[in-house]
Amino acid sequence: MRDQTNTFSILLPMKGLVQPITELPDPVFAEKMMGDGVAIDPLDTVLYAPFAGKITQIHPSHHAVTIQQGDVELLMHIGLDTVALKGRGFELKAQEGDSVQAGQPLIQFDADVIARECVSVQSAIVITSGQEINIAVPYNSAQTDLSQPLFTVASGNDPADAPAPSTRPSASTDAPAKPSGPKATGAVQIPNATGLHARPAARLAVVAREADADVTLTVNGNSCSGASVTGIMSLKTKLGDTLEIEAVGAGAEKAVADIVAAVKSGLGEEISEIPTAPKAEVVKETPLLQVKSGEEGVLLGFTASPGRAIGKLVKHSKALPEVTRESMGAAEERAAFKASVKASMEDLQNVIARLNANGQEELAEVFNAHIQLLADPELSEKPLADIASGQSAAWSWKLAYEAQAETLAKMDDPLLAGRATDVRDVGLRVLKKLMGVDEGNEILEEGTVLLQEDITPSEIVALDLTKIVGLCTTHGGASSHAAIIARSNNLPYLVNVEEDMMDLEDGTVLLLDAKRGKVKVAPSDEEQAAFNQKIADAVKLAEEYQRDAHKPAVTTDGVRIEIAANIGSLEDAEKAVAAGAEGVGLLRSEFLYLERLTEPTEEEQAEKVGSILEVMGKDRPVIIRTLDVGGDKPLPYLPMPQEENPFLGVRGIRIGIERPSILRRQVRAILSQANKGHARIMFPMIAALDELVAVKALVREEQANLGIENVEIGIMIEVPSAALMADKLAEEVDFFSIGTNDLTQYVMAIDRGHPGLASRADALHPAVLRMIDMTVKAADKAGKWVGVCGGLASQVEAVSVLIGLGVKELSVSVPALPEVKHKVRSVSMEESKKLAEAALDCADTSDVKELLKSQK
Ligand code: PEP
Ligand code: MG
Repeated sequence: MRDQTNTFSILLPMKGLVQPITELPDPVFAEKMMGDGVAIDPLDTVLYAPFAGKITQIHPSHHAVTIQQGDVELLMHIGLDTVALKGRGFELKAQEGDSVQAGQPLIQFDADVIARECVSVQSAIVITSGQEINIAVPYNSAQTDLSQPLFTVASGNDPADAPAPSTRPSASTDAPAKPSGPKATGAVQIPNATGLHARPAARLAVVAREADADVTLTVNGNSCSGASVTGIMSLKTKLGDTLEIEAVGAGAEKAVADIVAAVKSGLGEEISEIPTAPKAEVVKETPLLQVKSGEEGVLLGFTASPGRAIGKLVKHSKALPEVTRESMGAAEERAAFKASVKASMEDLQNVIARLNANGQEELAEVFNAHIQLLADPELSEKPLADIASGQSAAWSWKLAYEAQAETLAKMDDPLLAGRATDVRDVGLRVLKKLMGVDEGNEILEEGTVLLQEDITPSEIVALDLTKIVGLCTTHGGASSHAAIIARSNNLPYLVNVEEDMMDLEDGTVLLLDAKRGKVKVAPSDEEQAAFNQKIADAVKLAEEYQRDAHKPAVTTDGVRIEIAANIGSLEDAEKAVAAGAEGVGLLRSEFLYLERLTEPTEEEQAEKVGSILEVMGKDRPVIIRTLDVGGDKPLPYLPMPQEENPFLGVRGIRIGIERPSILRRQVRAILSQANKGHARIMFPMIAALDELVAVKALVREEQANLGIENVEIGIMIEVPSAALMADKLAEEVDFFSIGTNDLTQYVMAIDRGHPGLASRADALHPAVLRMIDMTVKAADKAGKWVGVCGGLASQVEAVSVLIGLGVKELSVSVPALPEVKHKVRSVSMEESKKLAEAALDCADTSDVKELLKSQK
């Protein structure tokens, strides 16, 4: 509705008696705190769009709507005090974000309810973009023609849908130029029962406009200019929300103080009591399927890495006490903050020294980066300002580092986005010191059994294994990647231990029997002696198995099974050869780079792969799996966007498909080293034939480019669709390797690291065994071989079933190699086939387990 002189017409939005806005019984409107406009006493019950534009806001109570076109923004507020109806009596005919035409119905309202329960049905039609109005109809006249202009305003801008001047998103890149001058910050909780709706927003904007500073307000990560009424309304605040204030300019300090005082006073409304968040009541129930030991002093867990250890408990809790804002006084808080940062720096330096001494220089680099972050004055600037304005150090620090991490996580540059994890990591370290819950990782004594809620792959590689003899987590899954690392380090690890373990005192003596899934608390001397004997016996047996480790694994009836190793480093490769590995069934290439902050170059990758191939030699094939990142396996240099369900998202080969340059560099690196040994390439997480065809084509292309003979190509079978389609996939590959960790996760629909469900995600479930059976049969028909490289292959009791199903190669964790070979030598193929048949016919995991026990 714009004419050539840039006069913009606002049509009648509601049939009714048009009145001067100054007559409304509400000073916020009458004194034009929000802007110029008119009042309408409605004769009808529908609010219409008075021009074509975009609905930029609808209040959650549906009584107020803002429409915008170019530089004109109009607020239509039905009735007075109608926010208190909380939506009752209003029916939306359009939604926020809609583009609407002039005359289109926006809200239908119940005038009776408003008249009965609110101050008035008189409605305010207000220009919030700052222009004055020229009324086009006589005041106190009844108007019913919706095509009739109500008033006009001057409009300077082109009518394109430019954003209204008052609103801006928090992380906008086209935000106005930064104001300069001193900066002050503060925060206050909103005491208004219905948040900062139109009227309190208008009063707040007046305070902000009067300030000699530019004010930005933020609530729950959304920001707006303090001078903008609609901006404040768009924050959609609620009672108890924290309003963060940032003022920049000569009067910054005063602006913050005035705003805090104004908000605390209720901005013209009654103050309501701010509810304290109700503590979620955790009702402890015994689940129908839970297994409890019932034995005095015995706690149950689930084996993630077998083995036994005696040690003293040390608990590391990630749970923090509630962070309060109450300050002990600025000077004291500042001193505590500085001391915590300093102590954290010292801890980090100790970790770095230890890692460097162990030859883990790349991992040390990660912690070096943490020191750099802590040394960055920008990260301390805001918390120090907040501490000065009366907040506690813990609260100020948490707010600052989380905000920085969030900003970084949203960055397009993957390197910067990846720093978010580092900021959170280092932030938590300082916060724990501030809250007195620092666990002091560096003063662990020898013979420690560590208990945490959970552990990540990079945390586990940073553990000091000269001190830690065993690990327990109350969460976590037995086939999580942390569990895999524990297994390859021969570190006994129980996941999902009963929560009661967290109530034990640090220093409690424990007998950790990770093989049997048990922890004995405070054992007697006799129990300790007996347990020590068991450990000694196990060592003896292991020595016995090791003596035969280099002999082949042949069943009693003469069938040879290839026993290969799962490795993640050159060191693993060396250990694997010593433990009798006949090849590498799975090189988890991502484990080579867990500590890298930047992507390794093609040459660096080639160097690592080449050295592993050399160690294994020409006679021991090495299956190199291309990068398998995502889910519980983050790679610092390859940050992934936040996903609702990371295990069902861009994970494994899907990264290679989305970002083929990464895959191509890796494939080229592998191919360039192929002649150093016997290299095979394997793709993870293949779910459909087209994925395989695409990545295989990439390999063949690079082979042609590099002039290298065909290398064998295989895929992991770890997604049910791949097992179901194995006959079609088999035609395109040289081999399959079954990843029982993921296959179990996807078949049973249980996250492999799920806190609490580990015992139900068992690869011995007949459903998983049937998938393996299906895969082997399909591969056999196509003349291709099948291996198993998931955790099930390392479970000695499962060996007979797997070979009975027709699996030709078992790829196991390095410490399990000699025992698995020994197991193969102790069974016959004929018996194994019968066992497999019976297992496939079992109804549940427990039946399979009973069956396996009866075979011993
Ligand atoms: C598997 O899923 O079983 C597997 C071997 O791969 P990863 O554990 O690395 O996901
Ligand atoms: Mg997997």
